Amino acid sequence: LKVQVADIDIPCAFGPAYEGERVRGADLYAQCGGGKTQCTELVKMADMNEIEDGKINLVGPDLDGIKEGGTFPLGIFVQIAGREFQEDFEPIMERQIHHLINYIQTIMHIGQRDISWIRISKAAIEKGFTLKDIGTVLHAKFHQDFTKIVDKVEVTLYTNPEDVDKMTATARENYQLRDARVDTMKDEDVDIFYSCTLCQSFAPSHVCSVSPERTGLCGAYNWMDCKAAYEINPTGPNQPIEKGEVIDAKLGQFKGVNDFIYKASRGMVTHYNFYSMVHDPMTTCGCCECIAAMLPACNGVMTVGRDYTGDTPCGMKFTTLAGVMGGGASSPGFVGHSKHNITQGKFILGDGGLLRMVWMPKMLKEELKDRIVARGEEMGVPGLFDMIADETVGITEEEILPFLQEKGHPALNMESIVG
Ligand code: SF4
Ligand code: ZN
Repeated sequence: LKVQVADIDIPCAFGPAYEGERVRGADLYAQCGGGKTQCTELVKMADMNEIEDGKINLVGPDLDGIKEGGTFPLGIFVQIAGREFQEDFEPIMERQIHHLINYIQTIMHIGQRDISWIRISKAAIEKGFTLKDIGTVLHAKFHQDFTKIVDKVEVTLYTNPEDVDKMTATARENYQLRDARVDTMKDEDVDIFYSCTLCQSFAPSHVCSVSPERTGLCGAYNWMDCKAAYEINPTGPNQPIEKGEVIDAKLGQFKGVNDFIYKASRGMVTHYNFYSMVHDPMTTCGCCECIAAMLPACNGVMTVGRDYTGDTPCGMKFTTLAGVMGGGASSPGFVGHSKHNITQGKFILGDGGLLRMVWMPKMLKEELKDRIVARGEEMGVPGLFDMIADETVGITEEEILPFLQEKGHPALNMESIVG
């Protein structure tokens, strides 16, 4: 067991050894995010003279005001300044928050961006853990792991609901700008995709391959971000992958990708398809923003986001799906993907693309409304948005099928999805 407590001044033990730990119900003291409250993370570049290195601000109450079993909202806002720092590095630093918080003994972190979820154990509280320790860890590790690009780190933690909501609105504007940076790119425009193996500590055989038209399934990394991550750390988890020979253009299978994932998964995964969830889809880890599942009776697919806790027409809730699919295997008929990916050009295009989508939670549908409308038009079905059922229509295939028939959903006339 390798434990680095070295120069990180927090009351709990800290290191990669604690990354895979769970905080189960009986051990839980308090939590934020996870569909119960808002929990958001944002890293922004700052001017050198704008921030103070090592300063950790807590705006709002700390954990001592929270009763056992309680929940609280949280905004983690990190400002970084550095002579070599670029705005392009923001998403990469932000994604570190996940494993760095997990490194704290008996603290658990799931998700990213505005769907993060942190569970704090009774054991950590007994040792004296406070929210400021999150800032201490981020400050220390950002300096340690990114010496080249980081000169100053200031962390602000918000725990008042109105502050968290305000920060979340700003964060969402930033996420949108980042996502948009690859919007005009096509997979065919590049010879290089990028890998991401950041999640192998949880899902050992999992390898994300990120192309311009397929952002990482956590939603945190797009092709541009992986490219920047590779520039910062050429031996890190984001490596260039030469696409090489096209094995299947429709399903999106490439010789170079297969060779790469075979090695990176230590022989566990031999191949997968970028553009299919029916046939040998990409591997899925537990971080995915959404999970798509086949709905054979409707000849279509559904997808469900992490923040929807209700039942779905595939018979499983998000948590169950994530438990079954999130171990790093390729599970035909299911695939983890980012929210943004739903309206990207290659989203399950080998299976018919977005025109196969027959059910989504209302919340997710509304969040992506403009993009779904635009993508539907692009694909020749201008009314697609209104043809997609949600939980107000039904939560079983039987309940939603008459709606799809009435609306004339395009999936009903496509070739059989199970064929
Ligand atoms: Fe990387 Fe994929 Fe994990 Fe996101 S989900 S951090 S892209 S391995
Ligand atoms: Zn993951």
